[in-house]
Amino acid sequence: MPVRDLQRVVILGATGSVGASALDVISRHTDRYSVFALTANREAARLARLCLRYFPRYAVMADKAAAETLRHLLQGKACQTQVLDGVQALCEVVREPDVHTVIAAIVGAAGLEPTLAAVCAGKKVLLANKEALVMAGQLFMDAVASANACLLPVDSEHNAVFQSLPGDYRRAATSAGVRRIVLTASGGPFRNTPLEELETVSPEDACAHPVWSMGRKISVDSASMMNKGLEMIEAHWLFGVPANQIEIVIHPQSIIHSMVDYIDGSVIAHLANPDMRISLAHALAWPERIASGVSALDFFGIAALSFERPDFARFPCLGLACQALETGGSAPATLNAANEEAVKAFLDRRLGFRRIGEVIDATLAQAAQYGAASIEAVLEADARARELARIEIKKRSAA
Ligand code: NAD
Ligand code: MG
Repeated sequence: MPVRDLQRVVILGATGSVGASALDVISRHTDRYSVFALTANREAARLARLCLRYFPRYAVMADKAAAETLRHLLQGKACQTQVLDGVQALCEVVREPDVHTVIAAIVGAAGLEPTLAAVCAGKKVLLANKEALVMAGQLFMDAVASANACLLPVDSEHNAVFQSLPGDYRRAATSAGVRRIVLTASGGPFRNTPLEELETVSPEDACAHPVWSMGRKISVDSASMMNKGLEMIEAHWLFGVPANQIEIVIHPQSIIHSMVDYIDGSVIAHLANPDMRISLAHALAWPERIASGVSALDFFGIAALSFERPDFARFPCLGLACQALETGGSAPATLNAANEEAVKAFLDRRLGFRRIGEVIDATLAQAAQYGAASIEAVLEADARARELARIEIKKRSAA
């Protein structure tokens, strides 16, 4: 049997929901993958447990105090893991020459710098952190091209589109007769909730997703459908399609993960159980296939697949994301930052659910929009939008 080179993997955001799915897949294929570095923000105890299980060369905590706790927890233990801290260390580990693959699974804008560092170092990058691409799409895709990085989507919809497009996906959308990219959405927990009840829904209600089990921020984004708005911008950059060629379809069963509609009338769809290990296994092994640990699809158990139009009045975040994509420049970074601040305030019970869209709308209306040609410009737009959003949140504060 030929001996395969072990691919050394960094998981940015290893303590999260996507991080856990990635480690589950990797642990099924120790002949192919080894864990080079694991990173987290503050969850030192959880990262310590992962270090003692996967023996990474490095563990990085974004938070310095948490890194101290982690050092303490690993002291005298049977692992040689070196503990580093801070954003710079996150960027440095992904650039290490021994690193083959980086799984970008940090939530939010915090993922931008390390994910971009991995792209600029020409690594194979598995992208879950959609916010990075939303904030800095042009910069990101330019860096992919100039560093010849291999960027593979693991967001389930984009992975589904990738699997439904032929060959090189970045050329495919323009040259392969694609009419539309159809992103499916479950509709989240509030698809049928009476509008007046949406006034008082709690973070627990919003995080109780009917199909997926995910981190809290993306769960709220799914409930407001901002997640689909961010995914539309993500699809625009990944596949080079304009907004008017991206359609959103509500598909409550979440079995079709997305589709590509071709000009001859053919539609190619990707079907799978809703489990992130599928797209992670696909992208890890691409262009080969490996087992993900997910059971085969039971067609007789599913029985029916249904589709609905998205309700832009119920979910104003969808329209705001379309608007930001059309405006371009720094508008998507502004949208993303205002959303992150509003979601945080909602999770902290400082803001009502229906006020999330209002805060984003008011922030987009006030923020000066300009080109997003450098990382500094993107970070500046992000910081400015957060300031404006915090003022808008205070005005509507539930407290
Ligand atoms: P999560 O909240 O479960 O985990 C987030 C991870 O990021 C944790 O490891 C945390 O320590 C780390 N992190 C948070 N803030 C950080 C900071 N400031 N600096 C460094 N690290 C930080 O989130 P998740 O659900 O795993 O989602 C991660 C990303 O993947 C998000 O961008 C999300 O939109 C995307 N995504 C998630 C799913 C899913 O099923 N969970 C599906 C598709 C895409
Ligand atoms: Mg998704």
